[in-house]
Amino acid sequence: MNLNTRTIVVEPYNPYWPEAFELIKREIDAVLKNCVIAIEHVGSTAVPGLYAKPVIDIDIIIDVGIFNRIKDLLSTIGYTHNGDQGVAGREAFKYDGKLHLMKHHLYVCDRNADELKRHLALRDFLRNNNEYREKYNNIKLEMARKFPHDINGYINGKQPVIMEIYGLCGLDTSYKQMQDYMGAYEMTDFTNKIKNELQNLGADIVGFGNLEELMADVREGMPTGISVAVRYPKEVIRGITTLPTQEYREWYDRLNERLDMIVTRGASFLYEMGYKAIAKTREQVGYDGEGDKHYTILPHKTVATRAGIGWIGKCALLVTEDYGSAVRLSSILTDAPLNTDSPTNKSHCGDCMICTNACPGGAIFGVSWEAGLEHDKFFYADKCVETARERSKLGFGGDIIICGKCIEICPYTQKYINDIT
Ligand code: SF4
Ligand code: SF4
Repeated sequence: MNLNTRTIVVEPYNPYWPEAFELIKREIDAVLKNCVIAIEHVGSTAVPGLYAKPVIDIDIIIDVGIFNRIKDLLSTIGYTHNGDQGVAGREAFKYDGKLHLMKHHLYVCDRNADELKRHLALRDFLRNNNEYREKYNNIKLEMARKFPHDINGYINGKQPVIMEIYGLCGLDTSYKQMQDYMGAYEMTDFTNKIKNELQNLGADIVGFGNLEELMADVREGMPTGISVAVRYPKEVIRGITTLPTQEYREWYDRLNERLDMIVTRGASFLYEMGYKAIAKTREQVGYDGEGDKHYTILPHKTVATRAGIGWIGKCALLVTEDYGSAVRLSSILTDAPLNTDSPTNKSHCGDCMICTNACPGGAIFGVSWEAGLEHDKFFYADKCVETARERSKLGFGGDIIICGKCIEICPYTQKYINDIT
């Protein structure tokens, strides 16, 4: 079944649900007898007063080491093991038929599994707290209205309230734990969904970087940076072999505007899903262009290398495999649970000295970058700014700091602009 076309149905609490659970439990009990610690009714149908999807969630709690025996016993009454679905310590089972029983999800949980603790904590908290039961009801109804055919949108949208409750229950709500809560499949779906959104808005490259190694104030308390790149048209870069052109300057502004739009809408989308998201627009960041004269506390290039979309070239610009340096960058900081990419920590420039030799201002030392290397150890920003200003004047009479020589001449850019496909 295609999850994204299924209609999300949440119903008012039905007093029959505990009885439906008891009927299923009785059948399971008959084969498991005294082999298990407990069979628990969990999930929203286990909380009187809570709206729920009409599906009974059941956790069978077992001791370590007896899973295979339980699996064999369950198979005798038509349940088939369906893997852990990316959630450690919780094994899922599926079945066919069983029309005499209410639809249910059956899990076998190790007694120490974090997921089991979360299920029980959430159920017990909601059973005893009217205020949060109401709050949870409201978010469920809102998300079911908002994402009537999108199960991932529905699940992700109510996640912030669940996380708040976990926090109140004293459960770990760190980013890493959040990844576990959502499960690997949901995380991947959600990450792809965000990527698609940004690509539909016009992003050419999107990457997700784990920023947690950086100081919290640098990343504004957000664990993840989404790096967004848009590319220059090939002909625009071909046109700056000698000097920067008016066309190049116009595209520089146009791409910056496009990036501001993409990250603003991307951040709004995440915000609507209930997460914090900061769009690092030009207004937010200040100048982050050629020369990096006004070096920002968290450059887009840092987010980009953390997201693995490229490396810092000897010219201090981001170099990507697909478009060389012919890109402009922006970023979004967020606490949304997203799968992050492997960071790039080393330069791929190798022995190349093309930009070093071509820079008319002598701004490039010729030193290969690696993560953590300070900017002024391989690049003279002042020399670049001075030269780029002169070349803007010479090229098109502009009073702006753009040059583009090291962009155009880089072999990775050349590969892109000379590719006729
Ligand atoms: S080539 Fe131009 S943009 Fe590149 S470092 Fe030199 S002056 Fe700056
Ligand atoms: S021109 Fe060569 S050294 Fe410079 S950024 Fe490109 S690959 Fe690196």
